[in-house]
Amino acid sequence: MTVPQITLNDGRTIQQLGFGVFKVDPAETERIVSEALEIGYRHLDTAAVYGNEEGVGRAIAASGIPRDELFVTTKLWNTEQGADTTPPALAASLDRLGLDHVDLYLIHWPRPDLDRYVQTWQAFEQLRAEGLTRSIGVSNFHRPHLQRLFDETGTVPAVNQIELHPAFAQRELRAFGESHGIRTEAWGPLGQGKYDLFGEAAVAGAAAAHGVTPAQVVIRWHLQQGIILFPKSASRERIAANFDVFGFELSDAEIAAIDALDRGLRVGADPEAAVF
Ligand code: NAD
Repeated sequence: MTVPQITLNDGRTIQQLGFGVFKVDPAETERIVSEALEIGYRHLDTAAVYGNEEGVGRAIAASGIPRDELFVTTKLWNTEQGADTTPPALAASLDRLGLDHVDLYLIHWPRPDLDRYVQTWQAFEQLRAEGLTRSIGVSNFHRPHLQRLFDETGTVPAVNQIELHPAFAQRELRAFGESHGIRTEAWGPLGQGKYDLFGEAAVAGAAAAHGVTPAQVVIRWHLQQGIILFPKSASRERIAANFDVFGFELSDAEIAAIDALDRGLRVGADPEAAVF
């Protein structure tokens, strides 16, 4: 099973399909991530605030997989934004992960009310120069937040990780980012199970036509548009199924029918309003 590689604007590559661990119980994380690695995932997405970086790190160490075959992302939590607080926050994440560098470090939320994401980004540029993270990016950034980084700093983020699923397709934000060389990563790619995505005729019909599950159809919808994603599951069967998506292809008509489900349905927090 070959996962496509996407080239980032800094020349590095990322596997387009990975495994995310939001809300994976810290006590279960090592076992679940070990299963994902056994199944073949090589791209892992965690965050300091998930509280499970140690488990991710233990699974990596136990796997024996060469470090350069893995792509590990973690994220800076909001309370650590700032020129002085960012470097120790990455050092603490690396300590918990048992790694000497991550592949991608993200500002988790812009928190425009704090007005610290520009100085935080400048600290990120320095962390990348020091080799503590190979690539740097952002998450939950809207167009004005990205524009400020372009205007006030020298580095365009490699990715913007945003809520993205068929009912919330974020076409405008994706197009803006991509026009500046920013790759889009989808969080909540399956809608976090918060609406009946799998029961939609466009999804269920394509699943029946290809003899696959609705979740596999939605994952293909992302992949065929060049979106990077890392669906989360705690069940081995689903973790395996979510990776077994390279044996079929959606037609243009099937993609268009799923595109038509977009109705601006945000299931997570609004980045403008988020104050956590
Ligand atoms: P998701 O859309 O991946 O949904 C996960 C839910 O879908 C799980 O509860 C699981 O029960 C269900 N599911 C998974 N596979 C399934 C299958 N095959 N069949 C049926 N149901 C299935 O949502 P997510 O976990 O929030 O997003 C994925 C990853 O994105 C996270 O784990 C995390 O790494 C990242 N994330 C980032 C942010 C951010 O602010 N940057 C926010 C949320 C999530």
